[in-house]
Parts: sequence; C-alpha cells; structure tokens
Amino acid sequence: MFKKSLSDLKPYPPGKPVEELKRELGLRKIYKMASNENFLGASKKAINAIKKELKKIHFYPEGGAPLLKRALSEKLSVKETQLILGNGTNEIIHILGETILSPGDKVVYAWPSFIVYRIISKITEAEAVEVPLKNFAHDLDSMAKEVDRKTKLVFVCNPNNPTGTIVTKNQLAEFLEKVKDKNSDTIVALDEAYFEYVQSPDYPDGLKFLREGYNVFVLRTFSKAYGLAGVRIGYGIGNEKLIQEMEKVRQPFNTNRLAQAAALAALKDTKHVEKTVKKTLKGKAYLYQALERMNVQFIESETNFILVKVGKAKEVFEKLLKKGVIVRPMDGYGLPEWIRVTVGSESANKTFIRELEKIL
Ligand SMILES: *Cc1c(COP(=O)(O)O)cnc(C)c1O
Repeated sequence: MFKKSLSDLKPYPPGKPVEELKRELGLRKIYKMASNENFLGASKKAINAIKKELKKIHFYPEGGAPLLKRALSEKLSVKETQLILGNGTNEIIHILGETILSPGDKVVYAWPSFIVYRIISKITEAEAVEVPLKNFAHDLDSMAKEVDRKTKLVFVCNPNNPTGTIVTKNQLAEFLEKVKDKNSDTIVALDEAYFEYVQSPDYPDGLKFLREGYNVFVLRTFSKAYGLAGVRIGYGIGNEKLIQEMEKVRQPFNTNRLAQAAALAALKDTKHVEKTVKKTLKGKAYLYQALERMNVQFIESETNFILVKVGKAKEVFEKLLKKGVIVRPMDGYGLPEWIRVTVGSESANKTFIRELEKIL
C-alpha cells in the first residue's frame, strides 16, 4: 500500500536533542555538538523581534514573506521574484524536487552528502545517482559524466556536509560548462548552508553563476551561522521562471510569523554573524591543534563542524553521550570510523577533547 520507492529509505536520523539526554542521564551540563547549530545562540535582535511578533500570532503569516524578500533582495542584489522562502532550506529542497522531478528522472549528487537529496529523490520516484566523494570532496568529473538527457537535477553541497570540503571557483565553473553542454535544462542546486563560515579565497559565490546565466539554484539558510535552527527558515535563489513554478508548489503559509520576523532582524544583525564566525574559527583552530597532538585524523573544514576519525564511531558516540557530549556518528553515511563534531563554546570544545582523549 506504500510507495515502492520508500521501501529502502529510513526516517531522517536527527542529532539527539539536549532535552532527551537530560531526561535519560540526569546530567546537568550537556554539550550538543551534533547538528551544526550556533553555540552563541540567536541574535538578541531576532529574539526581541519574535517577542514583538507574538502579539500577532493569531493572524496567518504573509505567505510570500514580502518584507524578508525585500531585505534579502537588497542584500544579495537579486530581484524579489528570484527568491523563495521555506520552512528551513530542507523544505526548499522538497519544493524544488516536487516542482521538477517526475518518476524516472535522474538526480545526481555526491555521497556522503546531505541526506535530504536522497529523501526527495525517493519521494518523487526519481532515480538517485550517488557519486562517491574522492578524498572526501566532490568528484565533479565523475558527476559530470553521469549527466544525461534524463538528468533534471544535480546537487552540489558546497561546503559539503559531512566532510566540510569545498568545490573551488574553477572546479565549479568547469563543471557548470560541462553540465550545460550535456543538458542545458539540468538545474544545478548549490547548497550553501555554511556560506557565512567559509574563509577560502577559492570559494565560489553561487549567485555569480546565476547572474552569468547558468542554470543554477542557490540554497542558503538562517539555521546555521544566523542561529535560527529552531524556528525553521531558509531561502532559495534562482531564475524567475523556476521560482514562479516553485511558488505553485509551496504551501500557502509555509514560513511562520515568528520565523519571518526573526530572520528579518537576524539578517540586519551582521555583528552577530561576524562574532559567530570569529569564535567558531578560534574554536576550530583549538580542536585542530588538540586532535593533531592526539594523533587523531580529521578533515580540514570550511564550516562549523569537523569530521574526525575515531575508530568505532558508534561506540565513541555512546561513550561521549554518557559524559554529556552529543556528537554525530557517521555510520549511516558509510563512514563507520568517523564522527562529525560541531565546533562549540570553549568549554564544549575542551570537554569534548578531554573525554575523547580518555576514550581513545
Ligand atoms: C543544515 C543544512 C541545511 C539547512 O537546513 P535547514 O535547517 O532546513 O535550513 C541544508 N543543507 C545542508 C548541507 C545542511 O547542513
């Protein structure tokens, strides 16, 4: 009675919530380093905007989020008609898939990468082509080879979750040319959820390629550096025709009032993002140094998380959990020896290192 394409799919495994672990262990202090959230919390301005908006929650939100669209369009120098808001970028990925994918269409993406690409492919009964990473980074040459007349959609997760590696400007330019030659209708979705964290001068801004007329769709979010994961809001930027079609699929009131108000305030609080990035870089440098001292292998990351090789990841995860440190074991991503750890506060990072050292 259920869709066949769902039979080999598992429900999305979220990072263990803090509340759950507190109940289970009765621990006072829990460090959640599993879901790449902002350890400083949200901008105070965003929190105040939510408080103000609370008075209006009996009214439906403005479905199209016009104020937020205007602010984003000014900040990004794109037209408002090139923007779509979603209940997290996760929903934008679903809307995109539902807008363009039919059973039998091909979707190409790297593996391991963000698991939602697999989920939307299965839901829409498209054929998912998962191209293994090479040295923990996108193998764009092999991905380009997979693009054919049936390929409607390609995902490039840049930086990649869970490895933290980037595709460079030159690599992306070359890839987009190849895709265009093979199938000019293929949409390349550039998932830039960690855009604000990237420091490399070789990192491409997906919007540049959109402006140059490539068939790309850029995804960004307020969940990561902006610290608004809990209210769920993200956005997509694409060509007007695509956005028009996606607007037909979007639920009328998909982003709620509190999320819209918070995002608008957070967008203007550039200081908070700067502080977040600065502290994250400092924390990341500490973690790198500590892991090197311990002779533990890790992948250098352009994001706020690090993939770390610990041996039996599931066991290490369970042991860290008992000490109140939540990380993400990567066995479900075909990396049974690795955990992914989000850069946290100074005390979170220190506790993680201290406990990991004891375990190893
Ligand atoms: C976190 C994340 C997202 C966005 O998540 P939302 O909270 O739904 O906005 C998208 N892509 C990647 C790769 C992510 O890691």
